[in-house]
Amino acid sequence: MGKEVMQPRRSTTRRAIMLAAYLVVVFIISFIVVREWGGPADEERVRTQIAMGTVIEMQIRGMDVEAADRAMTAAFAEVRRVDTLFSTYLRNSPVWRANRSGGDVVTLPDEVYALLRRCDTLYRNTGGAFDVAIEPLVQVWGFDDDAPAIPDAQRLTEALSRSGWRHVEILDSARVRLNGGAALNFGAIAKGYAVDRAVAVLAAHDVREGLVNAGGEIRSVGGTWTIGVQHPREERRLAASVRIDSRSIATSGDYEQFFEEDGKRYHHIFDPASGKPASGCRSVTVLAPDNTTADALATAVFVMGPAKGMEFLTQQKHIDGMIIDDRGAVYTTPGFDKHSSR
Ligand code: ADP
Ligand code: MG
Repeated sequence: MGKEVMQPRRSTTRRAIMLAAYLVVVFIISFIVVREWGGPADEERVRTQIAMGTVIEMQIRGMDVEAADRAMTAAFAEVRRVDTLFSTYLRNSPVWRANRSGGDVVTLPDEVYALLRRCDTLYRNTGGAFDVAIEPLVQVWGFDDDAPAIPDAQRLTEALSRSGWRHVEILDSARVRLNGGAALNFGAIAKGYAVDRAVAVLAAHDVREGLVNAGGEIRSVGGTWTIGVQHPREERRLAASVRIDSRSIATSGDYEQFFEEDGKRYHHIFDPASGKPASGCRSVTVLAPDNTTADALATAVFVMGPAKGMEFLTQQKHIDGMIIDDRGAVYTTPGFDKHSSR
């Protein structure tokens, strides 16, 4: 930002054009080479499925087609398994049952309990910005229905009084008690967790270069991949291109699920303190070693807002990110710039 003032732009541009021309030639040649001599073994396989309320896309490079398909089929099954564990609306899912336990002690599957404990750490590390006990807020704003709308003040106060981590009592032996009508929603972390699990399945199938994308939460196994980050206001534009190798990436935005009333935008990421959509950001992108962390922190930093959010991102080890604020200004950590272009 700003630093290009002194750069010899012309020659840079010319060099860029030469390089681009060179790359086009190399691409065409290698394309022909692959088409003529490469068998299916060198193909890139891409498959998509709808799950977890979004499009799940998987890609595998440089692997025998049948082996790649076997790996992807197993990884898709893993995503659906995770969805079954954490879904709020699938009848009798562990979270569905916990949310209807009426204050009784519930025993969770170990995996759900483990993620709940991780949410406890995230709640404390983010100063309460990340809080999965906000299901009453999701309900009252109607984001799980087809017609979300502004709730009246009384209903919002009631939902807010039932929301919040203070109602969650984590007990030993995988047990939990949700007090005061509280309920959980893992929507800000379950996709990231599913991506981590799916990537583990690909790796177990000896995939050397693979990618899993759950609606913008992305992690790879092997290889270097360039990820386009959606511009929060212009659908056909990218806000940035990010190279990821060992790290994963997640983006939270106010453009994913929202409605407008009187020219104001209301979206699905809540400030747990006010019970209202968090203000200050349009989108937050986080790079982290695993996608569970990236997904959760993208949501948390969004809630923190640009100033606090940038401070938080710079303090974290192995974490980088980009924040686009409500006026469209872009803030990045130095580590983010190193791996991206805009
Ligand atoms: P997306 O699902 O679009 O990728 P997020 O990862 O930010 O976006 O998740 C948003 C979802 O997380 C909401 O739909 C809601 O279920 C839940 N949520 C909203 N606010 C919070 C919060 N402050 N902490 C944790 N979960 C939240
Ligand atoms: Mg998230």
